[in-house]
Amino acid sequence: MSKYDFDLFVIGAGSGGVRAGRLAAQLGKRVGVAEESLPGGTCVVRGCVPKKFLVYGADYGASIREAAQYGWSIGEVSFDWPTLRDAIQKEVSRLSGIYSTILEKNGATLFRERAEFVDANTVRLCKSGKTVTAKTILVAVGGHPWVPEIKGSEHAIVSDDAFTLETLPERALIIGGGYIACEFAGIYAGLGVKTTQSYRGSRLLNGFDAEVRDEVGEVQKHNEIELKFNSSPTEIKKTAGGYIVTFDDGSKIGTDLVFMATGRRPNTASLGLQNAGVEVDDLGAIIVDEYSKSSVKNIYAVGDVTNRVNLTPVAIREAAAFVETALNGKKTAYDHSNIASAVFTRPPVGTVGLSESDARKEFGDKVTVYSTKFRPMKNTLSGNPQKVFMKLITEGRKEKVIGIHIVGDESGEMIQALGICVKAGLSKADFDSTCAVHPTIAEEIVTLKPREPGKVTVVS
Ligand code: NDP
Repeated sequence: MSKYDFDLFVIGAGSGGVRAGRLAAQLGKRVGVAEESLPGGTCVVRGCVPKKFLVYGADYGASIREAAQYGWSIGEVSFDWPTLRDAIQKEVSRLSGIYSTILEKNGATLFRERAEFVDANTVRLCKSGKTVTAKTILVAVGGHPWVPEIKGSEHAIVSDDAFTLETLPERALIIGGGYIACEFAGIYAGLGVKTTQSYRGSRLLNGFDAEVRDEVGEVQKHNEIELKFNSSPTEIKKTAGGYIVTFDDGSKIGTDLVFMATGRRPNTASLGLQNAGVEVDDLGAIIVDEYSKSSVKNIYAVGDVTNRVNLTPVAIREAAAFVETALNGKKTAYDHSNIASAVFTRPPVGTVGLSESDARKEFGDKVTVYSTKFRPMKNTLSGNPQKVFMKLITEGRKEKVIGIHIVGDESGEMIQALGICVKAGLSKADFDSTCAVHPTIAEEIVTLKPREPGKVTVVS
């Protein structure tokens, strides 16, 4: 009989924690899980899932307008925010319930309270005051929105707040050029909010392929989002009619809502990690090795709390690899290369592998770029001028595909399948020998021609 209460104790029932807890319980391990908020974590409760519903909600508005050219006449149209908001929250509660059930059905014990480290094998459950011990502890507590300290920053909302707003503002100012800022600008604009997106750089989506960044700028403008580049806010002042935001270039913007989407930080403050000797980096992320093991041999961490690749499916894979390594005797490291992802602008971005500038840094003149830009069939009839941009990057004489980037309808769906091709190391010849599926947007990816010679490479 083990001297510990649990074989595994998981702190945090988000995507990574729930997967690890379930898999460990299915191996017959005695598992405890603590969660201070709703099971499901950021992704299910205040992230990917409710966000995607909002994107669908915004897209319906555009579809209704475009339906006329397809013969539909639609009467007066209006949008009711509380209806969408409450429907989403109901679904979030249902999904969160499923997460609890998954753990409990598999025999894990779920503690609906905060847990903090007492020492390397002991955690204190903060509401009940109970302490429990475990042989292995997994930290999967995720992260939280981070806001720069400027005068009046307390007036700004963050993504956590965006799903449950009492009313939708008439005007919104979104600060940031990353995933969350770009997605929410698209959502708000699509729901009829006069939206401005302000970014300190000169192109949205830092780190993405430069042409994708330009295309996303076009997408935002097409959606009537006003873009303000090269400026950061310095003060938010509350006024009788809303807020006045002052920027470092001296300009001011009046708005009804200020939304800071300026990045996220790991949730490690006051977790008691120092009591266990777990080391963190400058941003508070738990430092782990390739097996997600921290500086303490029985304590592991997965997901956003490690600030590696902050995506739900990555946390899930890291969790599965952790269970294999720590509890099933099979050392398994998750390979973080070529992770496909999507940014749900409207239309979205799908991306996998290297950007052109990173490819050129790594492979120099061995890089070949194929690209196309075309108006998808649906839009030719509807009158929507938006185009699809596709780019495929290869390396070497065998033309191994090392990057694919798409901005356009269905790119989130396409990139999942294309991610398999890049992960598998397929070549351009493999793409060319694949028969097209006609008529689709995706068929263009198997008929791509080299980008016009002489076209200047844009650097991110
Ligand atoms: P990001 O890191 O994507 O973007 C943060 C933005 O804030 C950047 O534009 C950054 O500018 C800017 N910024 C940072 N500090 C300041 C500052 N002091 N003043 C002004 N601007 C600042 O973070 P997000 O919060 O958007 O998203 C967090 C992570 O969550 C993402 O990186 C992603 O991993 C994940 N996510 C994934 C989604 C998906 O898969 N669809 C959706 C949402 C989130 P700069 O670029 O110049 O540093």
